[in-house]
Amino acid sequence: MKKSLICVSCPLGCPIEVEIENGEVISVTGNTCKRGDAYARTEITNPMRSLTTSVKVEGGVHPVVPVKSAGPIPKDKMFDCMKVINNACVKAPVKIGDVVIENIFYNFPSHDDLLHYPSMTKQDMRFDYDTVCGG
Ligand code: SF4
Repeated sequence: MKKSLICVSCPLGCPIEVEIENGEVISVTGNTCKRGDAYARTEITNPMRSLTTSVKVEGGVHPVVPVKSAGPIPKDKMFDCMKVINNACVKAPVKIGDVVIENIFYNFPSHDDLLHYPSMTKQDMRFDYDTVCGG
């Protein structure tokens, strides 16, 4: 089976073809550099995305603050992360760079999730914008 992707690792956006057999990547073509190869393999086997959203604030000027994951999160864990984030509420004041949810994976109902992502045992959600939410 062949799958077409557009590499999003840089603005060039190389069109990439990935050949897959029994769920394994056999070949990657069309990439201009090694980053494209790595992107394609990850995208097929364990797609990752940064999560950008907002979290509720108590006692601040604004009802919510924008937050972003400190790094990419497995795509299939986005909804689990959003459940944690939607139930979270931080106390004002918060400032850029503050960790508003420490190690979000430990907030999942089952820590077994962590076993599948050994390189991601810690993933924080951080306040992301250059503003201060005073309270
Ligand atoms: S393959 Fe390399 S050059 Fe092409 S879009 Fe990806 S990172 Fe950029």
